[in-house]
Amino acid sequence: SDVRESLTYEKFGVAVRELAQTIADDGFEPDIILSIARGGVFVAGGLAYALDCKNIHLVNVEFYTGVGQTLEMPVMLAPVPNVIDFSNKKVLIADDVADTGKTLKLVRDFCLDTVAEVRSAVIYEKPDSLVKCEYVWKRTDKWINFPWSVDEPVVRREGQVLDA
Ligand code: 5GP
Repeated sequence: SDVRESLTYEKFGVAVRELAQTIADDGFEPDIILSIARGGVFVAGGLAYALDCKNIHLVNVEFYTGVGQTLEMPVMLAPVPNVIDFSNKKVLIADDVADTGKTLKLVRDFCLDTVAEVRSAVIYEKPDSLVKCEYVWKRTDKWINFPWSVDEPVVRREGQVLDA
């Protein structure tokens, strides 16, 4: 068996439609789709079209600081979305994968106090994720190659300053 799970752009197109169908079949009609950049932006865009939802927000989460050191916990980068805009709204958080689930937990907890309802949708969920997503396309314990990050960037940029 393969040690990696590979998602192509073509397979992603099928996956995001099937994920959207699952959400629609469940009767969940989100007012807002909140994507976790960067991988979740692809997922949120696909879901927004398939679910006919015109409201997309974005939150940037990184595990790394500008100097390339790994943090123990993921952090939200500026600009942080205004949760007041989310009050009494049904929010669907979209990401590519829930691995440890720490990223999703951070964003979910950020929403929980303010919003009427928050659910999560991911393409992949791994068995040890501390957030159990309401909507999952496929479960795997393998490392996943995503089409948007499997290839090296076309240009390398050193010393980028991240907003924090
Ligand atoms: P977490 O561990 O917080 O659930 O995942 C954080 C982030 O790590 C994900 O959004 C994703 O960007 C990255 N990540 C986690 N597991 C994988 C994986 O199997 N493949 C790739 N390409 N990225 C992953």
